[in-house]
Amino acid sequence: MPDSDTDTDLIVVGGGPAGCAAARMAAGVGMRSVLIEPDILCRNLYRIPALDNVLGGHTSGPELADSITTELKSTEPCRLELGRHATRLRAHDDHVAVTLDTGARLTAPYAIVATGVGPLQPADVSWITDPTNRVLPPLWQADADDIQGRTLLVLGGDRPIGTFLRAHPTADTRLLVAHPENDDYKVEEIRDDPRVMLLPTRHLTLRTSEGAVTAEIVDRSGNQQTHTSDAAFLSIGSAPVSPPGDLVRDEAGYCPPADQHPRVMVAGDLRSARYQRIMTALGSGSEAALRVYYAAQELRM
Ligand SMILES: Cc1cc2nc3c(=O)[nH]c(=O)nc-3n(C[C@H](O)[C@H](O)[C@H](O)COP(=O)(O)OP(=O)(O)OC[C@H]3O[C@@H](n4cnc5c(N)ncnc54)[C@H](O)[C@@H]3O)c2cc1C
Repeated sequence: MPDSDTDTDLIVVGGGPAGCAAARMAAGVGMRSVLIEPDILCRNLYRIPALDNVLGGHTSGPELADSITTELKSTEPCRLELGRHATRLRAHDDHVAVTLDTGARLTAPYAIVATGVGPLQPADVSWITDPTNRVLPPLWQADADDIQGRTLLVLGGDRPIGTFLRAHPTADTRLLVAHPENDDYKVEEIRDDPRVMLLPTRHLTLRTSEGAVTAEIVDRSGNQQTHTSDAAFLSIGSAPVSPPGDLVRDEAGYCPPADQHPRVMVAGDLRSARYQRIMTALGSGSEAALRVYYAAQELRM
């Protein structure tokens, strides 16, 4: 083994449900792990107000996230590296090396990568022109205190808009939802909410002036419309997020588990656009840890 600034059996990259389940399962079979997460554990779950598809009695994302976090923090063989970001992953014959944003390099016999997905930005889609090329936050990250009485421009009609409306049932917020044809079927569930104005869009140009965001829209009939809002948020969709290096990606950027180096496992949403759910993340993280366990056992035999 090369010089290493950690002594562990497994590096877990990403502290969502998949990464946490991997670290917990690894501990259960006696493996030590280091879990790297730039934010808090299960950060995405804190924005899910109601859960109806998770076993175990948790009915909200924050409740489940708190419970996972408490359990992980008392899982002795798992060392948490919170506030750290993996910037590179290299897979070698006998080890995996992960570089952090601090410059530190961690090595271990195996790595599980569970970095999930992140929001697509205006620059990623052809139906939006943004001369300033800004990076915008997803709608579900909007703070309750900041949205009261405001008009928000929402770019795209992806499903988290429904989650947002359910999370803020009494918020006096107006949503201008500019969506391309591909999202027509997705906006059906929000069509009747009086706070929503649907703007079927062929092309949109974003302009900012004096704190306001203006959308110059060409609608499906080719007519021009201009709408002004207090802020712009994203609901375009999501794309996989993974550290550069030796992960094998498909055309869409997902990392199919079966295509990876034998020392690299992939779990959770990063696997594919399908199966992006909390229970599947927990299951695939647990399974990835067991695959590491059995691979290590076979090497010892
Ligand atoms: C608004 C919304 C509502 C949802 N509602 C539901 C629901 O009701 N039921 C359901 O089953 N699912 C729901 N989901 C989906 C569910 O949240 C995901 O399927 C699940 O969180 C995936 O878990 P994961 O661990 O694969 O990824 P994530 O939860 O995305 O976790 C990935 C983690 O990796 C970290 N990371 C990223 N890059 C790096 C890096 N380079 N180095 C280190 N760490 C990194 C991130 O900070 C993040 O914490 C919802 C999602 C959203 C956005």
